[in-house]
Amino acid sequence: MDRKTAVVTGASRGIGRACAIKLAQRGMNVVVNYNKSEKKALEVIDIIREFGVEAIAVKADISINKEVVGLFSQAMKHFGRVDILVNNVGIVEDSFIMMLSEDSLNRSMDINIKSYFYCCKQAALKMFKNKKGCIVNISSVSSRKALAGQSVYSATKGAINSMTAVLAKELSQFGICVNSIAPGFINTDMISSLSEDKKKEYLDMIPLGRFGEAEEVAELVSFLCEGRGSYITGQTFVIDGGLSI
Ligand code: NAP
Repeated sequence: MDRKTAVVTGASRGIGRACAIKLAQRGMNVVVNYNKSEKKALEVIDIIREFGVEAIAVKADISINKEVVGLFSQAMKHFGRVDILVNNVGIVEDSFIMMLSEDSLNRSMDINIKSYFYCCKQAALKMFKNKKGCIVNISSVSSRKALAGQSVYSATKGAINSMTAVLAKELSQFGICVNSIAPGFINTDMISSLSEDKKKEYLDMIPLGRFGEAEEVAELVSFLCEGRGSYITGQTFVIDGGLSI
């Protein structure tokens, strides 16, 4: 079978959901990872199957290494290969430094950083024998632009950009490309929880005058994963309506 298999973490909602659907539209089988939103993950599966490709939903808390190992085992069991990883899961818990709690700090480190290492390791182990693969890590424009209250989130996303560059060097010998995408404000549940005042403050900072859509991020992900981005590795691509300029 020539059909590639993509593993998308956090694909029940938001950017991950859009990426899973976009990659399916482009003819890939998809492993839809979720943690709490089973019903939404199953809805994504139904949408994907309409494109004539296969999909499975796999529950795994990707901040736990054992569950990540299980996620990739399920992918191999069903599809026999992993060609693409979209490392997408992330949380944002804004806090000024003097109010920062240790629990929140640990949660962000586990979900926004450690999970990316766990998933990259498993993906690389599945890809290296084929001498081909593509990993896209979802970072954030907050890794480049300082926003008060986001010291932890910015630091975790900065770590993703750095790990991306190093893994690109390590894995290039196996034909595996590793890039990251740093979105600005994108219309997902992450943004809908902001107060109206905060949304207006952020909107005023964006030259294009609007928040982005998850599908716009998914377009860039699919460009990198489909072969059109075959000579690109180790980079971080900002997609933010001009917020960072
Ligand atoms: P979102 O709408 O809040 O969705 C988060 C997704 O992550 C959900 O599918 C959720 O699944 C999953 N998830 C959370 N914790 C998980 C865990 N421990 N294990 C497995 N899945 C887990 O987020 P989003 O806005 O799409 O953001 C996606 C990525 O883009 C994140 O890395 C975020 O930092 C980055 N980003 C977002 C924006 C933005 O403006 N939205 C901007 C820059 C960067 P369940 O519901 O099933 O638990």
